[in-house]
Amino acid sequence: MRQPLIAGNWKMNGSKVMTAELLTAIKAGLGDIEASEVAVCPPFPYLHIAEEMLSGTPIRYGSQDCSREEDGAFTGQVSATMLKDFGCTYAIVGHSERRLFNAETDAVIARKYQMVTAHGLTPILCVGETLEEREQGKTEEVVARHLDAVLELPGGVAELAKGVIAYEPVWAIGTGVTATPEQAQEVHAFLRQRVAKKDPEVAAELRILYGGSMKPGNALELMAQADIDGGLIGGAALKAADFLAICKAGDANA
Ligand code: PEP
Repeated sequence: MRQPLIAGNWKMNGSKVMTAELLTAIKAGLGDIEASEVAVCPPFPYLHIAEEMLSGTPIRYGSQDCSREEDGAFTGQVSATMLKDFGCTYAIVGHSERRLFNAETDAVIARKYQMVTAHGLTPILCVGETLEEREQGKTEEVVARHLDAVLELPGGVAELAKGVIAYEPVWAIGTGVTATPEQAQEVHAFLRQRVAKKDPEVAAELRILYGGSMKPGNALELMAQADIDGGLIGGAALKAADFLAICKAGDANA
C-alpha cells in the first residue's frame, strides 16, 4: 500500500514571519490528518525555521533543489550534506521552473538525484510536458525521457526506488488549469508501467504524485485515481486551510 504524500512547494515565497505562521497553522491542523504523509519545501533560508518548528513532529520538510556537487567553489549552491545537516527528508529535483529558468538538463537533474540519494535524502523527481509538447502528441515521449534519465543511472531501477516521482504537466503549473483526473491517471499509469518493465515490485511501491493547480476542490477526485499517490502543491500550499484540506483528501484515498 502506498502512503499518500502531500508535499508543499513554496517556491520563492515567504518571510521568517510567514514561515512561522504557516508552519504553526499546519501543525495545529495536523491532528485531523490520519493517513497522509505531510511535507513542506520552503526556500533555503527558512529551512532552519522548519527544523526548529517541525523536529519531533510527523511533518517532514525538504528543499526545492540541491547542488549536483559535493562541496567547494560553487557560489550560490546548496549541497545535499547541508540539507541533511538541517534535517531535511526530501529534495525536489528537476522542477520545470528550474529546467526552464536555470537550463537544467536531464543529465544535470540525474546527477542531482544521485547526490540526494547518496546523502540519504529522498528526491522528488519532477517530470512533465509543456502544452506544445502535449499538443504535438509527445507527452509520453517527454515524461519517459525525464524518467529514463534516472532509470539509466548506474543504480538503475534500484536508484529510482529511492525517490518519489511528481508528474507535473507544465501547462497546469500555476495556471489554474488542472489536468483532468483521466489525463493525469493516463500519464501516471504510463510511468508506472514503464518502471514495471524493469521491476514490477518497485513499480508497485513507487509513489507518483500529481502537481499542477491541485487545490481542495479537485484534490479528492485526482487522488482517487489508481496511480495518483498524492500531490506536489504550489500555490495552495501557501494557505494552511487549503493545504490541510488537500492532506485530508489524501487521507480519503489512503
Ligand atoms: C508546482 O510548482 O510544483 C506546482 C504544482 O504549482 P501549482 O500547484 O501552483 O500549480
